[in-house]
Amino acid sequence: MKKIAIYGKGGIGKSTTTSNLSAAFSEDGLKVCQIGCDPKNDSTRLLLGRICSQTVLDMVRDNDEVAAEDIVHTGYNGIKCVEAGGPEPGVGCAGRGIIVALEKLRSLEVLTDEDLIMYDVLGDVVCGGFAVPIREGYATDIYIVSSGELMSLYAANNIAKGVKRFAMRGGVRLGGIIGNGRNTPNEQQLLQEFAKRLHTQLIAFIPRDVIVNKAENNRQTVLQYAPESAQAGVYRKLAHDIWHNENMAIPTPMSFEELEKLVAEYGN
Ligand code: ATP
Ligand code: MG
Repeated sequence: MKKIAIYGKGGIGKSTTTSNLSAAFSEDGLKVCQIGCDPKNDSTRLLLGRICSQTVLDMVRDNDEVAAEDIVHTGYNGIKCVEAGGPEPGVGCAGRGIIVALEKLRSLEVLTDEDLIMYDVLGDVVCGGFAVPIREGYATDIYIVSSGELMSLYAANNIAKGVKRFAMRGGVRLGGIIGNGRNTPNEQQLLQEFAKRLHTQLIAFIPRDVIVNKAENNRQTVLQYAPESAQAGVYRKLAHDIWHNENMAIPTPMSFEELEKLVAEYGN
């Protein structure tokens, strides 16, 4: 079983990319589960065609006996969808839902015959809760979504620091940077150089495309909404490259000064 976690700055495109990847993997006949580790519980919306309101944390809070079918929902092409959930905004630790959810799934012994688990994780690994998927060995293959914007690269670099820390202790590795275009200057070249400095690869550069927004407005992945589109092809190729990726590295994060210099070099 492959256990993949997708990290990246807030709003960068993690859930969209993860959902399209899950769809692509399922089209290849793989048994896939996507777990949203985000209190917004919107990770699996494009797969379920709705916001999943039965989060693990809610179910555990309200019932003593929680069954697998209460928290594992079936979405597009048979993809299993789970939302960890979290506290109301502004109340409590957002990472807590992740801890409870992953422990619950483990104790129920579900998802044992999946080929692939995809963790879509909000935030960076600075908060202990969000580090849980990698700290506790739930996910081993990490991918970071980033655009060419400085703050997105800054978050990616911080995440790489967390990955490095856990990689030194165990089997966690960085599989690559997934570029998600924001049309910044020389974006693809910058992301390529950024990945190189981190001792990893730019495994894909996903162009910015309105088809993604149209599909989202129809509560679908691009693979479902526009299966013949070039964008769907980009997600399929990325899924293929991730499945066959042998370039799994311990990253070498940069200093902020070095990062700023790099962005300035490409951005002018
Ligand atoms: P959060 O941190 O809030 O969970 P996220 O990283 O999961 O955010 P998404 O919700 O996937 O981000 O994407 C944010 C917005 O960007 C969405 O409206 C999505 O449709 C859009 N988007 C993502 N990737 C692309 C793309 N390649 N082209 C056009 N729009 C995109
Ligand atoms: Mg998201």
